Amino acid sequence: MAEEIGKAEAAAVFGKLKAIMEKNREELTRLDAALGDGDLGMVMAKAFAHIGEKTAAIQEQAADPGKMFALAGMEIGKNAPSTMGTLLASGFMKAGKAVSGKPAIGAADMAVFIKAFADAIAALGGASQGDKTVLDVLYPAAQAAEGAAREGLGLGDVLAKAAAGAQKGLEEGRGLMARHGRPGIFREKTIGMTDPGSFAGVLIIRAFCEALSQ
Ligand SMILES: [Mg+2]
Repeated sequence: MAEEIGKAEAAAVFGKLKAIMEKNREELTRLDAALGDGDLGMVMAKAFAHIGEKTAAIQEQAADPGKMFALAGMEIGKNAPSTMGTLLASGFMKAGKAVSGKPAIGAADMAVFIKAFADAIAALGGASQGDKTVLDVLYPAAQAAEGAAREGLGLGDVLAKAAAGAQKGLEEGRGLMARHGRPGIFREKTIGMTDPGSFAGVLIIRAFCEALSQ
């Protein structure tokens, strides 16, 4: 278990993001088809496949792991012309910036990263927690990570708590009604359904977790 994310570990996270989106592509498509236009599997797989291809160049160009995530965000912005792609681009750019300027991302930095990621998406998308969006998994993940870091837990445990928080947010989010974006058109019909963007958010946190536990 890596206890901090240096540039090599950030590259491993990129690889895991690509793999996890590819592996869950059909599930993302299925969830998005029920509530949206069904393109989320393609959008996510394509965005992170692109990051996978650019990993070596990003690692070379960036001075530190935070800047690697910020550059990855810029690449996603260029290559995922969709709402979720734009939101994720901003999330990675702001989160990366929030922890840049240091050689490694530690446990407390990880909590800062997830919070900045969520805040960027909230600011750009205009949704609030409880609107049945990805924010319903990102904020619980950020809160769990912050609590774990405050207790003095290491990066692996902070990420495990974040992943558990995200999963809980996903499950609780099923009971919520969508009010925002394309799923918001369906309103009451969305109660009991899984928000596809929230599932994508869970996968992102899980990718960090899995990449660093190897
Ligand atoms: Mg869609």
